[in-house]
Amino acid sequence: MTLRIDVLTLFPEAVGQYATTSVLGRARERGVFELHLHDFRDATDDPHRTVDDTPFGGGAGMVLRAEPIIRTIEETPGLCRPVIALSPSGRTFDHDVARELSGLDGFTLLCGRYEGFDQRALDLAVDDEVSIGDFVLAGGELAALCVIEAVVRLLPGALGNDESSVEESFGDGLLEYPHYTKPASVRGLDVPEILRSGDHARIARWRRAQALARTIERRPDLIARRGGLSAQDAAILAEFAAPVDPRENG
Ligand code: SAM
Repeated sequence: MTLRIDVLTLFPEAVGQYATTSVLGRARERGVFELHLHDFRDATDDPHRTVDDTPFGGGAGMVLRAEPIIRTIEETPGLCRPVIALSPSGRTFDHDVARELSGLDGFTLLCGRYEGFDQRALDLAVDDEVSIGDFVLAGGELAALCVIEAVVRLLPGALGNDESSVEESFGDGLLEYPHYTKPASVRGLDVPEILRSGDHARIARWRRAQALARTIERRPDLIARRGGLSAQDAAILAEFAAPVDPRENG
């Protein structure tokens, strides 16, 4: 099945250009997803093709008018819901949301600019709002591309054989273990000996211990979300480091 993604933006060429490169470009060629770009300036009805106006109540900046956005959503054949506005006020986009979107037939992303959207565009035509973090970008295009790339690489056939999303960070609610490649020694730092041992079962346990230790240190919130460490996790950590009480970090 091909995932359909529509993007409403004032800069379709910026989104389209990135989406033809690398993983996204190959995934599109393989029919993993379709990308439909819409410039909502095309849905304006004045000679100047005006998409923004001054805010009621005064204040700095310009606000995106509701009608061109609503009209584009209403008049685009086959456009999929949910329609999701990119906004710093949205729910935070993360791996779980990416997984949720990757299970749909399609979805639509709405990119803002200036001060953002007339609230009525959101109230009348938008189903959800997502933010890619607690910072403010100039526009929603980069945020949309983050969402698209994170979702598409979860789809079957999106990645080649040498790439994998299965063992990556967040896949199992943990950060990923560290990677090493040749040469075995870099400026006096040697690759951990176990990775050259050929003992694949032990290497898998070591990697799991590294992922656990790194997550405990850097993202204890992720450990808490898993309900703390299981007895099995504690045993794997104990095999390679100091024992950890499974009741801790819960
Ligand atoms: N006035 C808005 C506010 O304070 O929340 C910021 C508007 S921002 C300059 C313009 C557009 O960039 C937004 O409408 C949104 O589409 C996009 N944007 C900015 N930061 C974002 C973020 N963290 N996540 C998702 N979209 C973002």
